[in-house]
Amino acid sequence: MKELLFATHNANKAKEISRMLDGKTSVLTLDDAGVMVDIPETANTIEGNALIKAHFLHELTGKACFADDTGLEVAALGGAPGVFTARYAGDECDPERNMAKLLAALSGVADREASFRTVIAYVDQLGRETVFEGVCPGRIALAKHGTGGFGYDPVFEPMGFGGASFAEMSLDDKNKVSHRGKAVRQLVNFLSKL
Ligand code: IMP
Repeated sequence: MKELLFATHNANKAKEISRMLDGKTSVLTLDDAGVMVDIPETANTIEGNALIKAHFLHELTGKACFADDTGLEVAALGGAPGVFTARYAGDECDPERNMAKLLAALSGVADREASFRTVIAYVDQLGRETVFEGVCPGRIALAKHGTGGFGYDPVFEPMGFGGASFAEMSLDDKNKVSHRGKAVRQLVNFLSKL
């Protein structure tokens, strides 16, 4: 069984990718691999952070690794919150505060165009990097709607679903069009050809 390290503490994310692979590769989280250090996320771009995390883990372990980073880019805000998406509302941020800050920033703004972008950086045993990107275009709702999902899901309406938010969609439907789904499928396709 080949092992691939994923720079995440999220076992669900790892399981999801494991299931999409050929059954000959197991995806290990930081906890599975016994990596207890804090991985820096100090770049000022989404791809920069994905690359920092993947290279950091590769240097620590010498194994093939990958890392992801996601940002929400709002056109009327010049691409913000972007790399700051997770901590948009500051030190005390949580999804509710982040969404409240976003809706306030767009109050009275007609242009609600936005997209989620996920970058996955893969670094092989020899330290060679490959980057995959998935983009989900959509718009920011006028107010939260829907109860499913996580993060910004109640305020993000992906294009082509009649104004439904991610929080109103099944996980299967969301995965078909989501930023992460698109980036993960590219990674899986790449790995299956190695
Ligand atoms: P991460 O890079 O996966 O940690 O995501 C960065 C930020 O984007 C976090 O605040 C997440 O809540 C948010 N985020 C990432 N993906 C999604 C999504 O599919 N829906 C809503 N929020 C998301």
